[in-house]
Order: sequence, then C-alpha cells, then structure tokens
Amino acid sequence: MTVPAVVVVVPVEGPAVAYWTLADRAELDCLVGELTRLAFEHRSRCSVCSQRERLCDGMRAAIEVVTDWRNSRSRLSRAAYLRAEQAVRDELALLGIAA
Ligand SMILES: [Zn+2]
Repeated sequence: MTVPAVVVVVPVEGPAVAYWTLADRAELDCLVGELTRLAFEHRSRCSVCSQRERLCDGMRAAIEVVTDWRNSRSRLSRAAYLRAEQAVRDELALLGIAA
C-alpha cells in the first residue's frame, strides 16, 4: 500500500510585494509559529498524524485556516494599498500635479 505524500506549504514571508507590510508579516509569523507548536504537540497524540507523511482532517483544517487567513490578509492589504495610492493620485490631480 502506498502512503500518499502530504506537502503543506505555508509561506512565512508572504508575498514579495509593496502592499505586504511588516505588520502583515509579523501576524503571519505569529500564526505559523502557533500552528507549528500545536502541530508538534498534536502529532504525538494523533494516530493519523503520528504516521509519516500523513495528516488528519483536524490538522488539515488548522493549516487551511492559516492559509486562508494569509490569502485574505493579502487581498485586504492589497486593497488598502491601492486605495491609498488612488487617494494620493486624486489629491495630486486636485492640485493640478500629474502623478
Ligand atoms: Zn492529527
């Protein structure tokens, strides 16, 4: 029987773009740190996760929460960044200065 390989990637750094702020990175670092700590604790008690390259549904759900948060935070930060950029362009236009 072949055991399915499980690969979970949760980028700690976040996107390398201007709108991904230091605060975003710090929040993601906290979440990934807690997830990692809890995953190690959980693994020793879980009959599924204690097997090599396997994750139980609960562990998958926990990882999904963090990755969903990261994606939502990225979208929110991008929107805020673009809104601020638009506000500057609008202000410059009111002053007759081309952006
Ligand atoms: Zn488990």
